[in-house]
Amino acid sequence: MILPGATLGVLGGGQLGRMFALRARVMGYRIVVLEPEPNSPAGQVADEQITAAYDDPTALEQLAHRCDAVTTEFENVPAGALAKLAGRVVVAPPREAVAITQDRLSEKDFLRAHNFLVPPSAAVRSAAEAEAAFGAIGAPAILKTARLGYDGKGQVPVSTLAATVAALERFGGVSCILERRLNLESEVSVVLARGTDGAIETFPVSENVHRHGILHTSTVPARIGPELRHNAGALAAHIATALGYVGVLAVEMFVADQGRLYVNELAPRPHNSGHYTLDACTADQFEQQVRTLCGLPLGSPRLLAPCSMVNVLGESWANGTPHWERALALPGVRLHLYGKAVPRPGRKMGHLTCLASTADEALDIAERAHAALSG
Ligand code: ADP
Ligand code: MG
Repeated sequence: MILPGATLGVLGGGQLGRMFALRARVMGYRIVVLEPEPNSPAGQVADEQITAAYDDPTALEQLAHRCDAVTTEFENVPAGALAKLAGRVVVAPPREAVAITQDRLSEKDFLRAHNFLVPPSAAVRSAAEAEAAFGAIGAPAILKTARLGYDGKGQVPVSTLAATVAALERFGGVSCILERRLNLESEVSVVLARGTDGAIETFPVSENVHRHGILHTSTVPARIGPELRHNAGALAAHIATALGYVGVLAVEMFVADQGRLYVNELAPRPHNSGHYTLDACTADQFEQQVRTLCGLPLGSPRLLAPCSMVNVLGESWANGTPHWERALALPGVRLHLYGKAVPRPGRKMGHLTCLASTADEALDIAERAHAALSG
């Protein structure tokens, strides 16, 4: 066990690292962040930021020297960096799980090999493979880069072979995956924590709405039937066990074909759709990250009240500084900002959560609070 007073390291300086650092410091840990951008969202609230590339050998050496355990806040950490650290300090999530989930092709292979339902898909690593893939998947489809995609970046809807080949060229010929575009009834996700002993605590299923490929709202309890809610939780737990996972894992799912659950993608870290847990659960997803990393008992994921979270993107600055006071005047609304200096369109600057007596009410107030920012 790694007890309060010890030092925890985090690879990555974004908002997920920031919220992890804040929670860990509340619990009495020291925090060191490794991140190439100076004054990062996580670095601002850490005890120390080492400003260097994630695979810089000197920086990794410093991190291992100063920390008792290291975690990550994003899945694109070079596998070599985790391997180097794993020989020196406690590391979670396991690098094997990070390696699988940082590539959509290996992630889909893993899920299929374990009989988890995924949308029909095929690898597209060359123009020649595009033809076979398009023949197998058909229209409508989506071409996604295998690596480094996020917030809808690195993917385009395609309906013809010519469009698929053109999209592959536009992505510079990197490895891609062609996926059948499903007619979605809804999108849900499950965030869970799994300890070294295999114990699992699953947060309530969140119902997610995306706009332009970026998460817009997450609402809990998800307004799907109790059986589907139960199945989503069980599905996520089975995936975590099959991965031999330790840490916080998010499973994004599609509901399609009259209530069937498809696995969309996995994130080996806390997730945007789990931010509601900061305000609405007994222990939040970042506390679970601390606890799993440190070998402490898992916290309770119990929902205290229905909740909706809405992301605040750079667009909210279109008419000048957002009207925070208007959003905060609405009942049950709380503000989280990530300390990013420049509000670019599509950039996640913060989020609002709203607690209310029903999910419908929470979502309605969250949407009104969001609109009030720039309205
Ligand atoms: P990202 O890494 O950008 O989150 P995703 O694969 O999760 O990438 O895709 C982002 C969003 O695009 C999804 O949440 C969903 O709204 C839509 N989408 C992605 N794949 C499909 C699909 N196969 N069928 C229908 N919608 C999809
Ligand atoms: Mg996604």
